[in-house]
Amino acid sequence: MIHHESCPVCYSSDFRHSLTCTDHFKSQEEFKLFTCSVCGFTFTQDHPADDEAGKYYKSDDYISHSDTSRGLVNKIYRLVRGMMLRKKRRLVVKASGVQTGRILDIGTGTGHFAFEMKKNGWITSGIEINGEARQASIERFGLEIISPEQISSLVSASYDCITLWHVLEHFNDLSLYIREISRLLKPGGTLIVALPNINSFDAAHYKSHWAAYDVPRHVWHFNPDTFSFLFESRGFKMTRVSALPLDVFYISILSEKYRGNSLAFVTGMLKGAVFAIRAFFNIRKTSSLIYVLRK
Ligand SMILES: [Zn+2]
Repeated sequence: MIHHESCPVCYSSDFRHSLTCTDHFKSQEEFKLFTCSVCGFTFTQDHPADDEAGKYYKSDDYISHSDTSRGLVNKIYRLVRGMMLRKKRRLVVKASGVQTGRILDIGTGTGHFAFEMKKNGWITSGIEINGEARQASIERFGLEIISPEQISSLVSASYDCITLWHVLEHFNDLSLYIREISRLLKPGGTLIVALPNINSFDAAHYKSHWAAYDVPRHVWHFNPDTFSFLFESRGFKMTRVSALPLDVFYISILSEKYRGNSLAFVTGMLKGAVFAIRAFFNIRKTSSLIYVLRK
């Protein structure tokens, strides 16, 4: 287990226990979230080290690594994914100002986004920790995917854009990735990071049952303020924050399930709609946000 003696963002040792969450997805173990009194950053205390993390992931149901269409939630997820892939590609082109350049997708998962970029003319590389997912996207999409230990072998200042779609919150070594991303981006290159938002309306409503806390797989729990403070203090400039408006439905359905609601799908969809409408007028309260930064 990794125990933090200081805040990973501002290095203060003044932080307090703010919430206890259960791993509803896999182990049913409890994990404590701590919040820094100085910068407000929230993180999972005593989370598994890299060599212990495997058992918290090993399941056919983990959606990022699975590509089955079993179950209504997964079916909806796949439908939404097609729409989101196109939206993400358009965002990369617009934010980077490059029509077809070089992109690195960190946390490639099943490889669908990297393939979306590749088939639209981008020179695409990926990094994926899960060996099976890595091999599957190499075979299925012909992608170039390496494992995280090989990141240092990538050439400095060679990418127009680096993307992390819902992966940064999983990485134990936050500092290492921020340093590597900075090294790999071309000067003026674009970084796009999608993350759950603990300041969202749905997080406030579901509290410890909020599915996007997803302990202990999610180590870091950002909001727009802590995210911009972290990256701006490490030399990046935030250029845009935009909403991922559909994630809230999936998160709300899962959160209702974690609460033990037998009508989780219906309730989650209805509440998700309410959260989405409210967040439309206040995007910093959206369930998931996309941050666009420039090096
Ligand atoms: Zn702090």
